[in-house]
Amino acid sequence: MVFTPQTILTIILLLVVAGFVFDTFLSWLNLRSQPDDIPDSVAAFYDREKYRKSLEYHRHRTNFSFVTSTFSFLLSVAMLYFGGFGLLDSWLRPVIDNEILLALVFFGVLAIASDILTLPFQLYSTFVIEEKYGFNKTTIRTFIGDKLKGYAVGAILGGGLISLLIYLIQLIGPDFWILFSLLAAILILLINMFYTTIFLPLFNKLTPLEDGELKTKIESFSKTVGFPLDNVFVMDGSKRSNKANAFFSGIGRKKKIVLYDTLIANHNTDELVAVLAHEVGHYKKKHIIFGYILSVVQVVFTLFILSLMVQSENVSLALGGTQSAIHLNLLAFGILFSPISGLTGLFMSMYSRRNEFEADAYAKETFSGPALASALKKLSVDNLSDLYPHPLYVFFHYSHPPLLKRLAVIEQS
Ligand SMILES: [Zn+2]
Repeated sequence: MVFTPQTILTIILLLVVAGFVFDTFLSWLNLRSQPDDIPDSVAAFYDREKYRKSLEYHRHRTNFSFVTSTFSFLLSVAMLYFGGFGLLDSWLRPVIDNEILLALVFFGVLAIASDILTLPFQLYSTFVIEEKYGFNKTTIRTFIGDKLKGYAVGAILGGGLISLLIYLIQLIGPDFWILFSLLAAILILLINMFYTTIFLPLFNKLTPLEDGELKTKIESFSKTVGFPLDNVFVMDGSKRSNKANAFFSGIGRKKKIVLYDTLIANHNTDELVAVLAHEVGHYKKKHIIFGYILSVVQVVFTLFILSLMVQSENVSLALGGTQSAIHLNLLAFGILFSPISGLTGLFMSMYSRRNEFEADAYAKETFSGPALASALKKLSVDNLSDLYPHPLYVFFHYSHPPLLKRLAVIEQS
């Protein structure tokens, strides 16, 4: 069956509309599910005034996301409906005759234009909303620096990948997906391994743990579970926000646990060791390796589907192009594939939520349930986390189970 350009465009537009309506509905549902009051058992650690502040914060963030997503939605529909992407292609084509360079300039223009158009929203998010609720620590200087570094990383990684992809498509045709899958698997592995040694230091400073009570306690814990202390680092999260966090990253000898300085500032030693124990749990239960395998499977599947349409002329025409162009097809593919990638993303989130329970259980077994519960409570209050997200919203968007669910499991038996 061959679809005409008109049919393809109609399908793309329907998908964009359906995606927007569905996302807006989920956010609306989530906003409505917040109760005005909390039971006394919860008020014992999330005092009512803080809770009201968190409600206000969430309303503010959600209403703001309605504005930004509506803006992006209207912009996408207009670009698709009026053939804006094809128009850009036909402006660039007479000037650039190398297809790889053409694609790079095409995506570069789109990326920069969309960044400029959404800049007011980015500024409002950081310097108005986050500022109002006492989270923001980002200076204009850091903001600009982040942008420039983000552009550089995006140009090198994104540009490199697009060039390689188009080169392989030109060289071997639809079978490109086999070789490119292999290269992507290696690249994802390398990024996983070097994330904390190459990418993170571009944006943040990592320092080894300072001598003191915390280090001593962590040292004895890491001896009992066999996780090298040399791999524990502190990151200057306070450079951008007062929100606290911790994470595990890397594979093999490159593995690292990173604790934010903002986490260390607001938690006692036992709570910090409990958080660390949770992160060690992710390592011991092999979540990183399985996560890597899952993402490679996802990439292979995506590339295979891409290979079915990447050289179709009608897809390019649907986006307003005048002839077959790989970059137009890549863009169309991104939209057409979004329901499927939403589905695979859903499985990834389910897997990730399951892992959180496993890591919590590990921390409880090897260190202390009450200390972990206390740390999670503090983290949620300090970050004004949503206590009562709608189950459907959690199902689609949450990589971590909601706090009260985690507490219920940690505190049982
Ligand atoms: Zn975790």
